[in-house]
Amino acid sequence: MIREEIAFICCSDIAGQVRGKGFPSTDILDRRIRGVGWCPTNMQITAFDAIAETPFGALGDLLLVPDNKTEVVVDFGDGSPRENFILGDITYTDGQPWECCLRTMLANALESMNSETGLTLLSAFEHEFQFVDDEVETETAYSLGGFRAGQAFGETLLSALRAAGAEPDSFLREYGKDQYEVTVAPQPGVKAADQALIVRELARATALRSGRRVSFTPVRTPSGVGNGVHIHMSFSDADGRPATHDPNGPGGLAATPGAFVAGVLKYLPSIVAFTAPSVVSYTRLTPHRWSAPFNNLGYRDREASMRICPVAEIPGYDVASQFNVEFRAGDAAASPYLQLAAIVKAGLQGIRDGLAPPPPTEEDLSLLNAETLAARGFERLPRSLDEALARLEQDETVRSWFDELFIDVYLKHKRGEMNYLKDLSEEEVFAAYERAY
Ligand code: GLU
Ligand code: MG
Repeated sequence: MIREEIAFICCSDIAGQVRGKGFPSTDILDRRIRGVGWCPTNMQITAFDAIAETPFGALGDLLLVPDNKTEVVVDFGDGSPRENFILGDITYTDGQPWECCLRTMLANALESMNSETGLTLLSAFEHEFQFVDDEVETETAYSLGGFRAGQAFGETLLSALRAAGAEPDSFLREYGKDQYEVTVAPQPGVKAADQALIVRELARATALRSGRRVSFTPVRTPSGVGNGVHIHMSFSDADGRPATHDPNGPGGLAATPGAFVAGVLKYLPSIVAFTAPSVVSYTRLTPHRWSAPFNNLGYRDREASMRICPVAEIPGYDVASQFNVEFRAGDAAASPYLQLAAIVKAGLQGIRDGLAPPPPTEEDLSLLNAETLAARGFERLPRSLDEALARLEQDETVRSWFDELFIDVYLKHKRGEMNYLKDLSEEEVFAAYERAY
């Protein structure tokens, strides 16, 4: 069959979907500069395709302009079309940034943090996902047999990731039914979020080529195991030296990273609407699911929303260069750009306010009563998307970090998503998210 290659320029949106437009790949030189036309209301296409209330209507024109450093070309070697896509930023037609472009929002947040502190953020996204086609039962958690059942998929995925410029760190059979996890090495700045998008898309692309289907939905059933997105964060100074660790700091954190962590925790109840933005995300964010029900910093505690990660304290391994903090209150219903932008803005507020991180917990906070929790400065995170959106809407500080137009667009989008689901049964809601992610 004859075939002309099509390349695709795309962006990640509020729905956590990757959308864009294709063009003959021979036009790449021109498209690299002027991108493709884009429409403001595209931002209001929900995960279920129904369009939420839009302040833009049918009006307005934008451009989706590629960042050529993000070009992904992967040949799977099986005769299927190459994955050929570039990630881009949304601008007005004169090239000025659009207030609602999530990738630009992240770049600006990182730039502010860097100019105010001299520190660069490095992040690594750890993704959990499940095979949802039920074609192969993948044996038991963490087992070699379970790994083997996903090995061909994993090896193809790792090869695709490497071809796309990511550095695979690990691939394993996770605990949940047919659940796997893939992690790539930390990257500075926006590149980390670019690679999170690339991981999700190449996992889907790999599954498709073997006739299988994976889902990154936050959780598949009310009692199921969650698919988390854990974001590992560390800082380097202007000379590229690790700057996260101070053996004498609280929890081993140096002063500025400690204030960053304190800011993220303080504002987490208001930003979780960005980091865990689906209706089913709040089933995952409940106690005893190894996710993140409270706004606590944990040490050796996998139910903390921020966790000080273990490091190898053995000869030949430097603690400072391994030291990192993991954000656990996120899932793949979120755009990785918005997720990280919200975290960075909250962290920067903590740095500006000179906050100190709370003492790390090593206990089950769900056993404490409301008074004890409040006295110790812990808050149960919102229990529903509705509650999370209300928290965001009411938090003047958090709103001030974003353009007013964007907050309006975001709230309308998410409320439109909830409205679409309102007449569905619980089972149908979970199924709809499983299909969408
Ligand atoms: N599946 C858990 C989550 O929803 C995380 C398990 C772990 O890797 O600690 O975040
Ligand atoms: Mg895991």
